[in-house]
Amino acid sequence: MRKKRHKQLGTAAVLLAALLTLSGCGTSFGTSGEPVSRQVIAMTTVMNLKAYGKNAEKGLDDGEKEINRLDKLLSVGSDTSEVSKLNAAGGGTVSSDLDTLLQKSLSVYRSTGGAFDITVYPLMKLWGFTEVYSESGELDQDKKRDIPTASAIAQTLQNVGADKLSYDAEMKRLSLPAGTQIDFGGIAKGYTSQRIVDIMKKDGVTAGNIELGGNVQVFGKKPDGSPWTIGLTDPNKTSRTMGVLTLTEGRAVVTSGGYERYITGKDGKKYHHILDPKTGYPADGGIKSVTIVCKDGTTADALSTAMFVLGKKKAVAYWKNHAKDFEMILLDDDNTLWVTSGLKGQVESTRYTMKTIKRGKA
Ligand code: ADP
Ligand code: MG
Repeated sequence: MRKKRHKQLGTAAVLLAALLTLSGCGTSFGTSGEPVSRQVIAMTTVMNLKAYGKNAEKGLDDGEKEINRLDKLLSVGSDTSEVSKLNAAGGGTVSSDLDTLLQKSLSVYRSTGGAFDITVYPLMKLWGFTEVYSESGELDQDKKRDIPTASAIAQTLQNVGADKLSYDAEMKRLSLPAGTQIDFGGIAKGYTSQRIVDIMKKDGVTAGNIELGGNVQVFGKKPDGSPWTIGLTDPNKTSRTMGVLTLTEGRAVVTSGGYERYITGKDGKKYHHILDPKTGYPADGGIKSVTIVCKDGTTADALSTAMFVLGKKKAVAYWKNHAKDFEMILLDDDNTLWVTSGLKGQVESTRYTMKTIKRGKA
């Protein structure tokens, strides 16, 4: 109906729409080519959802509901979340969301030799990250804090290791030994964006851009046919981009880096929040940031954290062994921007020297 009128009115309507867009009037442009958008703050992250098409508003409503539902389920900051209850009780029967998350987490744990490990949570607490990034708290990450002693880290490490979990996928029953606790912080946002995309597609949203902090997921074709462009944050100066990724098809684009969330020690050094489960210290593998591009948001998120932990050399080797599953963009400590061959021609950077990672034997 609306479409028809639009056609009849011709140039005048187009001009009016352009004027309205320029003046920022109105919000419901879902059908006229412009997206409708919404900002949600959850999971200590500023989230921006954009949806196109006539069901865009419904998509946003359902997307927002899904964020709040998953936040309630997964937040370790709340005693009443499913994850917190499992941690307190040493396990239990899990929901289907947690079943999916557990299976994915354990599979990436195994394939990365333990780099991705949801049992690092006791270490996160020891380092104080949970305090700094409490649900409502300010991110006072520049305040100088005591960092844990080597012996406290060694002691806590005894409870770390996803091989200590036992999970019966058939019965959906998880059991945790005393002292072992889990947290889906390294995968939750990717799962959330994947869920939102699935829901929006079901709602009949024709295209969308889901941005949950450093997690981006796009789907569908924009009404004007233009490709998706995604700015890649420059770890050396987070207010600018180091490059742009162009996508013509739906993908999840998830970045992990040491630059955004960290604490400052009394020694003045910054300690970031991605921990190497082998050492108990922040991972230090020669990577400033790593971006995973793949079809599934959950996988992209787990892999971004895992590749950061593996470090440059092992991450490249891992990609070579799994090149059909994902692509990768990596800024190393020498500021070389490495891009896997499947993204050839899709990444532009005027700031850093780009090099291609080619397929082949690892
Ligand atoms: P962000 O949350 O900033 O998008 P990541 O996806 O890399 O970044 O997730 C980092 C979070 O993952 C940490 O805050 C912590 O909750 C959790 N985490 C830290 N180290 C690991 C690890 N080695 N394996 C799995 N999860 C981790
Ligand atoms: Mg991650």
